[in-house]
Amino acid sequence: MNSRILLSLAHMGGSEQKYVAEAFAGNWVVPLGPAVDEFERRLAARLGHGNIVALSSGTSAIHLALVMLGVGPGDEVICQSFTFAASCNPIRYVGATPVFVDSEPETWNIDPDLLEQAIIDRHRVTGRYPKAIIPVYLYGMPAKIDRIMEIAARYEIPVIEDSAEALGSTFKGQCCGTFGSYGVLSFNGNKIITTSGGGALVCPTPEAARRVLFYATQARENRPYYYHEVIGYNYRLSNVSAAIGCGQMEVLDEHLQRRREIHNLYSRAFAGSRVVTVIENPSPEFDSNFWLTTVLFDESVNPDDVRVALAGQNIETRLLWRPMHMMPVYADAPFYGNGVSERLFGRGLCLPSGSSLTDSDIARVIKAIEDAVATR
Ligand SMILES: *Cc1c(COP(=O)(O)O)cnc(C)c1O
Repeated sequence: MNSRILLSLAHMGGSEQKYVAEAFAGNWVVPLGPAVDEFERRLAARLGHGNIVALSSGTSAIHLALVMLGVGPGDEVICQSFTFAASCNPIRYVGATPVFVDSEPETWNIDPDLLEQAIIDRHRVTGRYPKAIIPVYLYGMPAKIDRIMEIAARYEIPVIEDSAEALGSTFKGQCCGTFGSYGVLSFNGNKIITTSGGGALVCPTPEAARRVLFYATQARENRPYYYHEVIGYNYRLSNVSAAIGCGQMEVLDEHLQRRREIHNLYSRAFAGSRVVTVIENPSPEFDSNFWLTTVLFDESVNPDDVRVALAGQNIETRLLWRPMHMMPVYADAPFYGNGVSERLFGRGLCLPSGSSLTDSDIARVIKAIEDAVATR
């Protein structure tokens, strides 16, 4: 039987266990410590941005960004509809209302023109502007972030970049996650690097980073006894997890290179296909990490048939994110649509892209797809 090929797996570089052993040796088996500090330093150096706070997940990072921006009941927050639920669930955690905006077809991320229409229309309907905008870098592809930032500045609305899938992606040479007021990273098990579970928030100033750290560690005021003026959270990254992260940072660039090589293998294989289109950077300004390589099929192929055919050969693929405006839990949220995300959802598939996959693994996936679409 063919070995199992998964979408995206944790991929250790080798030094992780050494750092974890150091954490144990110092008895830093707590949600703070030298590995957390070192992991933050390494992230800051790699992103070219100083104010990074390591947290227990990407979801908690989005939540704290909303807390920092003072978002609460009665407020609206604009979020890209075509995403994973973790991008918008924290809007509900703070009691605010998500307003979903559709994507443009080049990057699959929030459509800047529709974003501006939504901002104007929300002001018309509610008399107020949304309190934040959450663009997402889906599958690692940078959004049209220059236009998004320009529109956000025009209406003075802060941007929280959901860069959970886009560690190492750049737009015009600048790292995703460093454009907005806040940037969100995730180190969940299937992301570019992993701490087994974890995240980080890129903050605008050292003061903001200190405040995020305060909120993430139960909002304990500086007194000899426990004393609280605001509601806090238990969101700090464990020192053991951060030790894994320190090791992962040493192989980040290798892993990024491998994801992009895998994308190239798929691109070359399907370059002549009229049925399968591999999604590419729309121009040299965009440099996706290709966390997952995605493809679109023409009308003759149902992506779920391909998924089932490949599953039969022990190959994991996944349908694209089902847009949030199509979720029962968000049925009552305002939505500004253009049909793009719904069309993509019905036509696309995510292919195995993990950095530990070999060229022969990818060749097996390519062959399986060719066979599946040939039988149409
Ligand atoms: C993974 C992911 C998150 C959440 O990150 P966690 O660390 O799993 O909480 C948020 N947004 C997107 C787009 C993601 O893919």
